[in-house]
Formats: sequence, structure tokens, C-alpha cells
Amino acid sequence: MSTIFTKIINREIPASIVYEDDISLAFEDINPQAPTHLLIIPKKPIATINDITEEDREVAGHLLYVASKIAKQKGLAEDGYRVVMNCNEYGGQTVYHIHLHFLAGKPLGWPPYTDKKKV
Ligand code: 5GP
Repeated sequence: MSTIFTKIINREIPASIVYEDDISLAFEDINPQAPTHLLIIPKKPIATINDITEEDREVAGHLLYVASKIAKQKGLAEDGYRVVMNCNEYGGQTVYHIHLHFLAGKPLGWPPYTDKKKV
């Protein structure tokens, strides 16, 4: 199933793209939670972490490689940053095309969540 991220990959809707290669795309989150908040996504539309297959291992690992590359390029590596991938409802996932959140630019609190009331 296609999501808004497929439209960003296909340039059907705009996004501030900061990195692209054959496997992945990285762009600024529309609702940033840190001074730098990027989303690193595979071009292959994989819905959730649960849908990562054996053949997707290289693609999934590539997202971390891109995070490391962007961190160095943007001078954020030494101070540090956080990468997060949410899965399904309890994980807080809202877009069903896997994406690595890349958060940087300030000290980030831990734990990062506030419990939501179970309905
Ligand atoms: P999730 O909640 O699925 O882990 O994260 C989805 C992220 O996608 C959210 O941080 C949200 O702000 C971001 N997002 C949703 N729609 C758009 C969009 O159209 N453009 C961009 N750049 N980010 C989006």
C-alpha cells in the first residue's frame, strides 16, 4: 500500500530532501521534534519493522549507514544524536512505510516517551 512517503520519493509532493541514493532517501520531518529531525526511508515501501524480510536486511541496515553518513556530513556525529524507528500502534507509528527518525542538535531526554493511556 502506498503512503505519503511514496509520493515524496516520486516527487509528487514536496519535501526538503537532504540525501538520496539508489536505496534510500532522507528528508526533513514536517513536524520537527529537535533542531535537526530527519526521516531516513528506504525507496522500497516496507510497511513496518515486522515486514522486514531476509531479503530486506541490506536495505534495513543501509538506513543506519545513511544516518552515520549524514551525521558526519552535518557535523553532528561528535555531539551525538538519536535514531528511532516506531512500529505499529503501541510504538507510535503513523506512516506505514518504515523510516528512521534522526534527531539531533540538542541533548535529548531519556526515556523518550510518555506512556499513553491504553484505550
Ligand atoms: P511515525 O509517527 O510514523 O514514527 O513518524 C511519522 C513522521 O512523519 C512524523 O514525525 C511526521 O511529522 C512525519 N510526516 C508525516 N507526514 C509528513 C509529510 O508529508 N512530510 C514530511 N516531511 N514529514 C511527514
